Amino acid sequence: MPFTLSPEKIAAARALAAAVSPGQRVCLTTHVNPDGDGLGSEAGLVRLLRDRGVDAVVTNPTPTPSRFSFLFDDIPGVDRTGEAVKELRKADLIIVLDISDLGRLGMLGETVRDRGVPVACIDHHVSSGVLPPGPRYLDAAAAATGELIFEVSLANGWPLTIEAACGLYVAILTDTGGFRFSNTRPRTLRVAAELLEAGVDPEQIYLEVYARAPEGRPRLFAEALQTLVVEPDLGLAWVTVPPGAIERLGVSSDDLDGVVEFPRSIEGIRMALLFREVSQGRVKVSLRSVGNVDVAAFAKAFGGGGHTKAAGLALAGSLAEVQATILTAARDYLGSDGAR
Ligand code: AMP
Ligand code: MN
Ligand code: MN
Repeated sequence: MPFTLSPEKIAAARALAAAVSPGQRVCLTTHVNPDGDGLGSEAGLVRLLRDRGVDAVVTNPTPTPSRFSFLFDDIPGVDRTGEAVKELRKADLIIVLDISDLGRLGMLGETVRDRGVPVACIDHHVSSGVLPPGPRYLDAAAAATGELIFEVSLANGWPLTIEAACGLYVAILTDTGGFRFSNTRPRTLRVAAELLEAGVDPEQIYLEVYARAPEGRPRLFAEALQTLVVEPDLGLAWVTVPPGAIERLGVSSDDLDGVVEFPRSIEGIRMALLFREVSQGRVKVSLRSVGNVDVAAFAKAFGGGGHTKAAGLALAGSLAEVQATILTAARDYLGSDGAR
């Protein structure tokens, strides 16, 4: 089957392209603690725009984890995250990637809200949020925002360079867990095939993203996995990052990527959780599910969000308090009809 785009998608992609013109200053941004999809999408789109003469830069609310910095290596100075507010004040257009909500833009939320320029958005999250008006390219069925940027480039006839393709490949590779999760559709693999045809070397990307970890990463996994608790009757399992472990081991929160897959991997588990204190009195919870348990709906009830099988939330309180609240709610949820 050839790769097709609906007339609505073509129109949306063209409307987005019409909002950018050569010489304009465009800021790309994504959610706090940017992941491979947010950063890979930025790396792809920033090149597609620069190739059109647009002065595009990356301005994120929190720093680029070291394993993704290779994405911007060949365009020094493009990652302006350190001066994000200053850069946003100069922007003619802001493009928000891999999230549709001001609330997830951290300390940049207010600047983006009050800036008074169009705010475009390309995203695949189910939960829509609030953003200032601007062009939208949204599809919750897409595996990754990177898949949608490929579509935007295709609809506009923008040539895909190998550098842009590498960014989009990182986006899709990471959000599909290496093409393993249920969001991996035939269409996802068709896009990935196009990216390989554009010159992406999958082994090189694999090595950059998954095989350059600091020694502290497996040590952090070891400490977190020691805390595993399993409640087989309900199909609930969770792990907790020991307070201070990230700092003590000299790693970053990005190095926790994948740890929640271990409780999720246990036979019979339907909901897996990872708890971690992100600051004094604030706890982040990562949620993953198996089967038809909708963790996005669960997270939403606590102000979080995400996807049906991968979601997150953050609550005020001590680690023990947040665990008590969330575990009680999770037990109720798994025992209720909604999660069957
Ligand atoms: P994570 O657990 O950080 O890997 O995130 C899994 C999914 O949930 C991603 O799609 C995130 O964008 C989303 N997510 C994580 N934390 C939050 C939050 N506090 N609010 C809304 N969505 C979140
Ligand atoms: Mn993301
Ligand atoms: Mn994503």
